[in-house]
Amino acid sequence: MHFDTLIKNGQVMDPGGGHTGSFDIAITRNRIAAIEPNIDPAAARKLIDATGQIVTPGLIDLHTHVYHSVTYWGIKPDPIAARSGVTTWLDVGSAGAYNFAGLREFVIKQSEARIYALLNISGIGLTAPNWELLNLNYLDVDLCCKVVDLNRDLVLGIKARIDYGTTGGEIAGLLRARAAADRCELPLMVHIASGPPTIQEILPHLRAGDILTHCCTGRSNKLVADSGQMLSLARQARDAGVLFDVGHGAGSFSFESAESMLAAGFVPDVISTDMHQLAVHGPCFDMPTTLTKFMLMGLSLEECIARATIAPARALKLDHEVGTLNVGALADVALFTLNTGSYTLYDIDMHARTSHQLLTNTLTILGGRPMHRIPDDDPAPWIELDAGQRMMRDRGHVPISR
Ligand SMILES: [Zn+2]
Repeated sequence: MHFDTLIKNGQVMDPGGGHTGSFDIAITRNRIAAIEPNIDPAAARKLIDATGQIVTPGLIDLHTHVYHSVTYWGIKPDPIAARSGVTTWLDVGSAGAYNFAGLREFVIKQSEARIYALLNISGIGLTAPNWELLNLNYLDVDLCCKVVDLNRDLVLGIKARIDYGTTGGEIAGLLRARAAADRCELPLMVHIASGPPTIQEILPHLRAGDILTHCCTGRSNKLVADSGQMLSLARQARDAGVLFDVGHGAGSFSFESAESMLAAGFVPDVISTDMHQLAVHGPCFDMPTTLTKFMLMGLSLEECIARATIAPARALKLDHEVGTLNVGALADVALFTLNTGSYTLYDIDMHARTSHQLLTNTLTILGGRPMHRIPDDDPAPWIELDAGQRMMRDRGHVPISR
């Protein structure tokens, strides 16, 4: 008896660690202790039978908002993590320099899920739904870099939302975010939606290792021309080493754009949810649903899992710890079933596609321990919205039913 837990008989899909097929996974304390085709069940204190299930590294969501009760978009990560297989969450810019301390104290310290953050170039972060870059007095590069330096254990980059509704059309916010990222020697994540600034003004400021999020947007700054061709600037950015992230959310995923991109061979590098108050009740729902949409468009399950495990782990330089099932990695493991049936999936404009399969999380293990999962028939809602967001939802901003 020398392992704590053994996950046996599952179909393992671990693109980063190179394990695909029938493997057993042994866990000791909070680390992967062994991954082999057949491990003796007598060698572990606790057995998890994964027969008929897909076993992956705990998923990494590169685009989330978890600063709940303080910022506009934030949701509590743990209930969603336990039901979606997402063990590592990157909060992208909910906090800026003025309110990062609270993200650490009241969210990261008090959540089970692993949370890292990108610091918003705007000191107020995403306190309000929009306009955070409109007052340049809030975009203090010196202060941003100082807060990064005080929090390098958690802050892995800089975030800037660059669209008309955040900037009023100006490019100054992007230039300050660029300056902060360069000075801190960290990646910059830039969100796109509707211009101005135009995509032609934005893309040339991104460099190798930076991340463009909302890459499948159907808004005016989309990466595909109306002809369906990829913008040459997008190809140039990819050639230069810029990463392209999905960030589905409530306003940023168009089937038409995504299908055009895939037809052009421009597959997003990372698939993420942009999980927030207006996305969690649909049409985004969660990471497994978002991955299912990409399977529906022709990606294999393994290609999807790679884009939600090892790819984001590498983007964040965390691939020695998370995103793989290699021996020595943190024991974050997710179990899924691939249900078959007829499932109608929607993009943010409520354009529908029918999928004949749906990836569904059945168990989420974080640091060697199963996360508490609120059952489907629990009378209490498994995720509660803040009053303001409930109002937005009730106005019909987001469809509620799957
Ligand atoms: Zn977002």
